[in-house]
Amino acid sequence: MEFNYYMPTKIYYGRGVIDQYKNDMENLGGKALIVTGKISSKKNGSLMQMQSALDSLNIKYITFDEVEENPSLETIEKAANVGKEEKVQFVIGIGGGSPLDAAKAIAVFIKNPHVNKENIFFSKKLESLPVVAVPTTSGTGSEVTPYSIVTVHKEKTKKNLGQLVYPVIAYMDPGFTDNLPYHITVNTAIDAFTHLVESYLNRDCNLMTEIYAMKGFELFKSSFENLVGKELTCKFRENIMLASMYGGIAISQSGTSLPHGMGYALTYHKNIPHGLANGLLTIEYLRCFKNQEKIINMLNVLGMENIDQLDRVFQSLIQVDIEISSQEIKEYASDFANNKEKLRKHPEEVTLKNIEGIYKNSLY
Ligand code: NAP
Ligand code: ZN
Repeated sequence: MEFNYYMPTKIYYGRGVIDQYKNDMENLGGKALIVTGKISSKKNGSLMQMQSALDSLNIKYITFDEVEENPSLETIEKAANVGKEEKVQFVIGIGGGSPLDAAKAIAVFIKNPHVNKENIFFSKKLESLPVVAVPTTSGTGSEVTPYSIVTVHKEKTKKNLGQLVYPVIAYMDPGFTDNLPYHITVNTAIDAFTHLVESYLNRDCNLMTEIYAMKGFELFKSSFENLVGKELTCKFRENIMLASMYGGIAISQSGTSLPHGMGYALTYHKNIPHGLANGLLTIEYLRCFKNQEKIINMLNVLGMENIDQLDRVFQSLIQVDIEISSQEIKEYASDFANNKEKLRKHPEEVTLKNIEGIYKNSLY
């Protein structure tokens, strides 16, 4: 057996961790750029807690609160320019996956002044300023992954920045998600679940990723019940943030595969939130997967007998009307068929027809 494992993020998990472990930020520098979305971090207490931690450490900061969902390279460049002018020494991302991913990209842009939205995808491996991550959704696991998924309008798609930026610290406080609205809770939880699935069924699944995936599935056994029954208790918030972290650690090693690669087109062209887009495609993806032994193992841990049972859970959580023509499906499928990296992650042979089939059977 052989495997590699590298996950350098220092994780603090629990209610009140920012205040408790703020001293860890002391040696990151004297001035920070805080990167957030437009509203939620001001309401859920995360921004205020971070600002008072920085105040008490005498660390100066400037806040950029314009990150949109599925952050664009334009926004990233704008924030990086603020960071460069202000001579910040580290970047703090607070929010869902969008501000966290944006913070990572911004940290790369600030550290490398020659980099811009035109040349970033042609750059060699670059260093970044240190990044601190404070997740306020339980889904992407971005606080423990090196990925930064950005919207590239020029190419009409979303893609990975191509740089590896692990946050140096992740402050994971489930309290910031206590009031996350039901529909965002569902969409992001499904994202976490698909990370676990796509890592577990990945060509690059290994001993370590499997341990995390199994732990995540265990937590989803009760979490699915909470989601279906709309019982979003504090315990559920704690569990689902852990499940999301397990999913993040798992994909930090293995990457994702078909549903994620295929879902980007639904997000870009049809405005379907990221987690929901993956969720729409996951059941068909599982039905096409030939290695049933792995599927059965996963279902056992979830306490389910077959894919139909999982399908019923998904159907009760995902209700979305999506208008899509067969021509559009053909285009999305042929674009995805060129994504050799994602296709390689799928351990079984997959044809253009299979990809079209997953889209069609999922969306019609
Ligand atoms: P998001 O796009 O970050 O946020 C979605 C919405 O949730 C926003 O309106 C946001 O409001 C709101 N929100 C966030 N936290 C909240 C809270 N505690 N209470 C109330 N509302 C809250 O959603 P996401 O699903 O977490 O992130 C999706 C992005 O992550 C996508 O771009 C996806 O590609 C990426 N992703 C990255 C990785 C990775 O490994 N890096 C993995 C999977 C997905 P505000 O805008 O006001 O904050
Ligand atoms: Zn995802």
